[in-house]
Amino acid sequence: MQAKQPGINSRLVHGTYRPDATGAVNVPIYQSSTFAFRNAEHGAALFAGREKGYIYTRIGNPTIGAFEDAVASIENGAGGVATSSGLGAVNTVYMTVLGQGAHLVSTASVYGPSRGLVEKHYRRYGVEADFVDTSDLDNLKRAMRPETRLVYVESPSNPAMQVTDIAGAAAIAHDHGALLAVDNTFASPYLQRPLDLGADIVLHSITKFINGHADVVGGVIVAGDAGLLARLRDVMVQTGCSMDPHQAFLVLRGLKTLGLRVERAQANAMAIARWLEAHPMVASVRYIGLPSHPQHELARRQMSGFGSMISFELKGGLEAGRRLMDRVRLATLAVSLGGVETLIEHPASMTHASMSKEARDAAGFTDGLVRYAVGIEDVEDLIADLDQALSG
Ligand SMILES: *Cc1c(COP(=O)(O)O)cnc(C)c1O
Repeated sequence: MQAKQPGINSRLVHGTYRPDATGAVNVPIYQSSTFAFRNAEHGAALFAGREKGYIYTRIGNPTIGAFEDAVASIENGAGGVATSSGLGAVNTVYMTVLGQGAHLVSTASVYGPSRGLVEKHYRRYGVEADFVDTSDLDNLKRAMRPETRLVYVESPSNPAMQVTDIAGAAAIAHDHGALLAVDNTFASPYLQRPLDLGADIVLHSITKFINGHADVVGGVIVAGDAGLLARLRDVMVQTGCSMDPHQAFLVLRGLKTLGLRVERAQANAMAIARWLEAHPMVASVRYIGLPSHPQHELARRQMSGFGSMISFELKGGLEAGRRLMDRVRLATLAVSLGGVETLIEHPASMTHASMSKEARDAAGFTDGLVRYAVGIEDVEDLIADLDQALSG
């Protein structure tokens, strides 16, 4: 009889690491750039891949490896490749799958730099791309071409909070001989496991939920197929976007509490979204946990929870947004998300202030739009903070 796989929280806490010869309960930090060979024959065997072991930290390191294995275990993949940043993971996926003349279809509301990298740089090398609203699979179907090699989906996406049907997108990609990669940063592997839904590659900015403490920048990629994973690792190694052992140690520590943090933050988010929906100064609330969200049912089917990202539209436009930013006391004015602390951002006056109003509107960054990344504080305090900031 096959042993039942432990639950997700057990795997998050224990990873695949077992105490080493010293009995160390946690993975030690192997802060070493290089590893000694026993003799010439050993070095030759490692380089030829005849023997498993460590050569040089950009290629592989025990602390980084423990982190890769832990994430691969919760994403149900063949293995993982850690990267120096989330964008390093995005670039590694692009460079592995796309080449001269290849075509990419991606989510229009994808993380800005994931799109910028293609439009500014990959285009120079003859890669073509279409960015479409993938929450409607007909748009994806229409955009597919014989040269399409990669379908790249972010779900849920930000700040539009659009949800894409991952199993449906995988079927379309595979019908056309393309691979499906999913940026799973917003859901975290605790709430959504794209490989189980048919995706070939899943990637994360671990800067967000996986690390969860707003103190590390990093990324990770997991693939279901060992051959594809080896190609991804080769690109990471050759482009030099490797993680650092100390970075990996911190993220392993964050990973243990992913379940607790996500559960708490999404419970807070649900209460805050409901409260905002009833507030007279709020025109609309986008939270995938609310039945009013257009893809609420889809999110319920493919995720095991709704996460903690909310965006909402203020009735007073630009001025109301600015005012809210200057009046909140508990929420911190900062970009990013997925940490224990609540962050608030107003794209029109902050991150996207340099865009024209027309360009902002077209991209969905309307004047009154506020992005609220809910943390694990006491929900009464978060609501009281918003209440005082929105009133008077
Ligand atoms: C932050 C983010 C990235 C980029 O990650 P970095 O760690 O900042 O390089 C990619 N995708 C999504 C969805 C993100 O939120």
